[in-house]
Amino acid sequence: MSRNYVPEPFRIKMVETIKMLTREEREQRIAEAKYNLFNLRGEDVYIDLLTDSGTNAMSQDQWAGVMKGDEAYAGATSYYKLVEKAQEVFGFNYIQPVHQGRAAEKVLFGLLLEEGKFSISNMHFDTTRAHVELAGARAIDCVVEEAGQPSVRVPFKGNMDVEKLEKLINEHGAENIGVVVMTITNNSAGGQPVSLENIRETSAICKKYGIKMCIDAARYAENAYFIKQREEACKDMSIKEIIKEVFSYADIFTMSAKKDTIVNMGGLLGVKEDQELFQACKGRTISFEGFVTYGGLAGRDLECLAIGIEEGLDENYLRYRIGQMEYLASRLDEAGIAYQSPVGGHGVFVDAKSLFPHIPYNEYPGQALAIELYKEAGIRTCDIGSYMLGNDPDTGEQLKANFEFTRLAIPRRVYTQAHIDVMADALIAIKERANQVQGYKITWEPPILRHFQASLAPLDK
Ligand SMILES: *Cc1c(COP(=O)(O)O)cnc(C)c1O
Repeated sequence: MSRNYVPEPFRIKMVETIKMLTREEREQRIAEAKYNLFNLRGEDVYIDLLTDSGTNAMSQDQWAGVMKGDEAYAGATSYYKLVEKAQEVFGFNYIQPVHQGRAAEKVLFGLLLEEGKFSISNMHFDTTRAHVELAGARAIDCVVEEAGQPSVRVPFKGNMDVEKLEKLINEHGAENIGVVVMTITNNSAGGQPVSLENIRETSAICKKYGIKMCIDAARYAENAYFIKQREEACKDMSIKEIIKEVFSYADIFTMSAKKDTIVNMGGLLGVKEDQELFQACKGRTISFEGFVTYGGLAGRDLECLAIGIEEGLDENYLRYRIGQMEYLASRLDEAGIAYQSPVGGHGVFVDAKSLFPHIPYNEYPGQALAIELYKEAGIRTCDIGSYMLGNDPDTGEQLKANFEFTRLAIPRRVYTQAHIDVMADALIAIKERANQVQGYKITWEPPILRHFQASLAPLDK
């Protein structure tokens, strides 16, 4: 299968030089970084696919917005511009800017969750799980079974397993479910989309049991594009119409604006109707983030975010964006390298378990592949598997993830087709020597979100 690369719907006006170290230098740097790619200096990375979060290229209009940002402490023009744009696109009454997605989680979850309560999600993102646990509650993932089968191609692998959701609610008691979180796209399952039908069904169950539904909305625009492409009933809807309907089913949303709204920093918290809840959110925002009209952001950030919300909805842009993933995936298909398929929205999640069948989950195959990609071509990626999942908060034992992925997250509007070819060529080179790659052990770890900071060492062969 050969697939054409969708040409960039923009041209380049400013460039940033990147350097490429020698293989020996890279081997030395990664050893010094204790085999944790978060410890590398950015300047030692050739192609940085650690995340698509806050690594996006802003447009000329957004940079113009930087100059126009209103830095008033209270009541900035940029704040009103942002709130009005978000109200228009998402159809929510109340919008609170915060400094990033996890800040929205911190502000909100303390109001919905406490010890003895549960959050159920199609899949909790790592910071989301952390904030559920920090509130004293427990996080339960409830994604459809196919999400754990990388080679099974179904259109909406990010979906909530709605039957299981209802069972879980009955098992734990509806009064103990503080919130149901719908993550779109489903990041931890490989940027996999959630169908409009599934969002509607999940919302109906939440309403039946009187549980609030929260959208974890980091990639709402990519999710809407997939709905338009893959859901027959929605093919004639505009991206804006799909987004409106998706959000109409939720009571609350938290959003990392560092993703689909194409800015380097920012987040949003939305409450549709519950004025009392929103009032409480404002109070906590003032304590944790800053006054309500800036929420931990500079006025210029608010301004760029307002512009980015609109730019992120452009269908030509979304076609190119998803096209990059599809092009990389088609090259991996040719080479027989397995990944979470069909490919998701913000990156390619390579199936490290199938590439390294000799490395067990507790020797972190996804992390091993991430380290190899850096050594091979200076590409920085991350593990989305048992290494990221961490230990059971009750027993302290290493959890076994459903899958062991290495995520090549593609920043928005940053890399070209030639860069994508470097990624494919590096993976192919590693596949050829896959049986020589060894697993890793953790030599030090903090208690929560350990993958950001842990130290590792290679295991002897
Ligand atoms: C990035 C992300 C978050 C956290 O947002 P930050 O801006 O990194 O704090 C939460 N949920 C999902 C699905 C994300 O992708």
